[in-house]
Amino acid sequence: MTFKAEYIWIDGTEPTAKLRSKTKIITGAPAGLDALPIWGFDGSSTNQAEGHASDRVLKPVFTCPDPIRGGDDILVLCEVLDIDMTPHRSNTRAALAEVAERFAAQEPIFGIEQEYTFFEGSRPLGFPENGFPAPQGGYYCGVGADEIFGRDIVEAHLDNCLKAGLAISGINAEVMPGQWEFQIGPVSPLEVSDHMWVARWLLYRTAEDFGVSATLDPKPVKGDWNGAGAHTNFSTKAMREGYDAIITACESLGEGSKPLDHVKNYGAGIDERLTGLHETAPWDKYSYGVSDRGASVRIPWQVEKDGKGYIEDRRPNANVDPYVVTRLLVDTCCSALEK
Ligand code: ADP
Ligand code: MN
Ligand code: MN
Ligand code: MN
Ligand code: MN
Repeated sequence: MTFKAEYIWIDGTEPTAKLRSKTKIITGAPAGLDALPIWGFDGSSTNQAEGHASDRVLKPVFTCPDPIRGGDDILVLCEVLDIDMTPHRSNTRAALAEVAERFAAQEPIFGIEQEYTFFEGSRPLGFPENGFPAPQGGYYCGVGADEIFGRDIVEAHLDNCLKAGLAISGINAEVMPGQWEFQIGPVSPLEVSDHMWVARWLLYRTAEDFGVSATLDPKPVKGDWNGAGAHTNFSTKAMREGYDAIITACESLGEGSKPLDHVKNYGAGIDERLTGLHETAPWDKYSYGVSDRGASVRIPWQVEKDGKGYIEDRRPNANVDPYVVTRLLVDTCCSALEK
């Protein structure tokens, strides 16, 4: 027998990487991650190599059922390596694996809220051919054909994520027509990131069959329309057990060069989204607060009430690399909590 394995990887497009994939027919029965062969591709077509030395290696790191093809077919998320088997410069997962390992004893977990926008041609889904729809107000978590655009795609994507066994934990319509969100987690740093990349791939792939594209552009419509973010919710064992650790984590993110170190790695175009308007804090000013959706980092009211829980970093753009944001948060907060 044979099965189809869709090998998925993250390319070298700048400033924001794209997903690529191709299909390998494998003979035999599916037998788990360790039995999957490494593969190669033409890195000169993905901004990952020069034409004269173009081979790059695909190393499987996560696999799940392929909900689109069904049967025994699988999706295979890969890291990109150079031919000497070291991580390629575009490979941000390898660095996260190291940091996650170093701080594993603190049991960090993440829930990431992925906002995105559907486009049909050059307009967001639901935008009229000329001009603009009614201003924001009724679209967030709305219902009805006058508020909601693309629900059939969103439901198909949710079902595909569930069939694939991803740790998807919810969906909602967002504040602009055609804008939506799904959440992954809370799970470990590598899991939330691997599942997020596969969920993104499934989003594009699902919408493709509807003739619609999805974008993680952080500011898909200029002007008085919300941008798209990737709020990153984070906790360690100590934060889930007491409030001092919550405050230590919030304070650590404000120390020295940390605010800028984080923000400049939170997705291309972040200064266009973190303006201080539309439920954001200005990109160059760090703040945290209880219930405060205008702060960089929010402590949910329930967390203050219970005296334990998690924090929400509201700064990451929708186009952030989850391997990068989780690595930075673990590194900064867990280093401070270790002291
Ligand atoms: P909101 O839109 O109000 O900011 P969401 O419900 O969209 O909130 O997202 C909250 C996220 O917080 C979920 O993705 C969930 O997985 C995550 N979360 C809940 N508890 C924890 C925790 N202890 N540690 C990390 N993340 C958590
Ligand atoms: Mn070829
Ligand atoms: Mn949310
Ligand atoms: Mn949201
Ligand atoms: Mn949020």
